[in-house]
Amino acid sequence: MPSDIQIARAARKQPIGNIAAKLGLGDDDILRYGPDKAKIAHHAVAGLAGRQHGRLVLVTAINPTPAGEGKTTTTVGLGDALNRIGKRTTVCIREASLGPNFGMKGGAAGGGHAQIVPMEEMNLHFTGDFHAITAAHNLLAAMIDNHIYWGNTLDIDTRRITWRRVMDMNDRALRDIVVGLGGASNGFSRQTGFDITVASEVMAILCLARDLDDLHARLGRIVIGYARDRRPITARDLKADGAMTVLLRDALQPNLVQTLENNPAMVHGGPFANIAHGCNSVIATDTALRLSDYVVTEAGFGADLGAEKFLDIKCRLAGFTPAAVVLVATIRALKMNGGTAKQDLGTEDVAAVTRGCANLGRHIENLRGFGLPLVVAVNHFAGDTPAEIAALQDYCIRHGTEAIVCRHWAKGAAGAEELAHRVVELVEGGEADFHTLYPDAMPLWQKIETICTRIYRAAHVEALPGVRAQLNLWEEEGYGHLPICIAKTQYSFSTDPDLRGAPEGHVIPVREVRLNAGAGFIVAVCGQIMTMPGLPRHPAAETIGLNDLGQIEGLF
Ligand code: ADP
Ligand code: MG
Repeated sequence: MPSDIQIARAARKQPIGNIAAKLGLGDDDILRYGPDKAKIAHHAVAGLAGRQHGRLVLVTAINPTPAGEGKTTTTVGLGDALNRIGKRTTVCIREASLGPNFGMKGGAAGGGHAQIVPMEEMNLHFTGDFHAITAAHNLLAAMIDNHIYWGNTLDIDTRRITWRRVMDMNDRALRDIVVGLGGASNGFSRQTGFDITVASEVMAILCLARDLDDLHARLGRIVIGYARDRRPITARDLKADGAMTVLLRDALQPNLVQTLENNPAMVHGGPFANIAHGCNSVIATDTALRLSDYVVTEAGFGADLGAEKFLDIKCRLAGFTPAAVVLVATIRALKMNGGTAKQDLGTEDVAAVTRGCANLGRHIENLRGFGLPLVVAVNHFAGDTPAEIAALQDYCIRHGTEAIVCRHWAKGAAGAEELAHRVVELVEGGEADFHTLYPDAMPLWQKIETICTRIYRAAHVEALPGVRAQLNLWEEEGYGHLPICIAKTQYSFSTDPDLRGAPEGHVIPVREVRLNAGAGFIVAVCGQIMTMPGLPRHPAAETIGLNDLGQIEGLF
């Protein structure tokens, strides 16, 4: 089997105008970024307002292992397979961050014969959205220090500024820094730091904004810190919201590209799943839903984090109602959840698969709790044995669902046809009765407890000092209706990444809460989370370069 990048290079791409035409979009509706990428213009998006939505299918997964479960690969494979059986389908996924691409190997465009192209560009600068987000974020940061320099009429408490700076690289040296050194003309020195661009609240805002007006309003609501009388200071107080909106105007337009099988794909936005909601933009999903019969989209991490945030944050805010869920599992990941060590994954171990199914079963129950019909997709790897697959299929039948073996990685759409037919049955069966996990009106602490006990099956949720008081204060300030965005390890239902399978009865400590008033959620930090990654000992960057033909080597 050739590598991902070899397959992508051999793709027979169609001009992007043809892909737009498949969606019924004309030449004036798109802004071309070269032959194979385009943005769907604001006026074209606005022109769809009266149209009905197609059906929304969510792809999520069991708790991940470091190897990746193939959620994106399955999202793309299912999208192509639905097109193959005659459903006009668009795939909606996230853009890639430069940082991880130059750190650990691994792209964001899918894999094998289920990929989105042009994959090199999608994994690099693409249409510049992340650079625009970086610029808008840092403009606000510059305006904060500048306001203080020129006399600080808002009386900003420099010890209580929460707005940091961002860039789209993994650079641990910038996590904690001091700015304003070097004398009076450089301002007042204070401690701050950098996060990776995808962890910026501006990214989360771009992904939840309905249109330019909503984007502008959300940017204005960003709280950058507090005055000395503890009053929150917003981006609007600093008059930064207008200029930030200008920097983001083009970036808000959804990006249109294609799959290897020339079907439309929208790749737009990429909020960090650790600290934000982790799904592609509302505007891209909404546009795709108005232009297609089916939209297949992916939520980052396992279903406990990714699907819960997709449903309780994105769908709640955007008013989307998903019609079905595809839960991706691999034999390898089930074995790891069943206790197999990474180096032993090559050996058949039916008992480990069966033990690992406890993790799958927990996700099945949780997703049913949202009122959604689901099917399990087994993303087939070459080393999977018939006995291991049979054990998984048995488990699923006993739990009232079925596991469909999919070979889209090896065969493209043809390998996922059975899954596509089953998804259509589920959607057309009209079983979905979607409801969020908690109502807007529930008090903030109770929302956190509801997620931790109902989804993670914790026995107890512990608030570290200050957390409850802070939540109460935000309720008094009018933020009590916001949903909760949990920041927690993706490897376990608990806060211990090594506790795989289906742990229960554990304690979840809530260390810290953060207000993202612009994005419109409150982050509850449970356990260690990282907002500026570092590079590994041998970063992928060491082996990335151009070959004699000017092609990119070593990226994937
Ligand atoms: P996720 O979205 O869950 O992080 P991806 O779909 O991005 O995972 O896939 C991660 C990596 O695994 C990619 O390099 C992809 O080529 C590879 N991969 C996915 N499915 C398979 C498979 N069935 N067999 C072999 N490799 C696979
Ligand atoms: Mg992915």
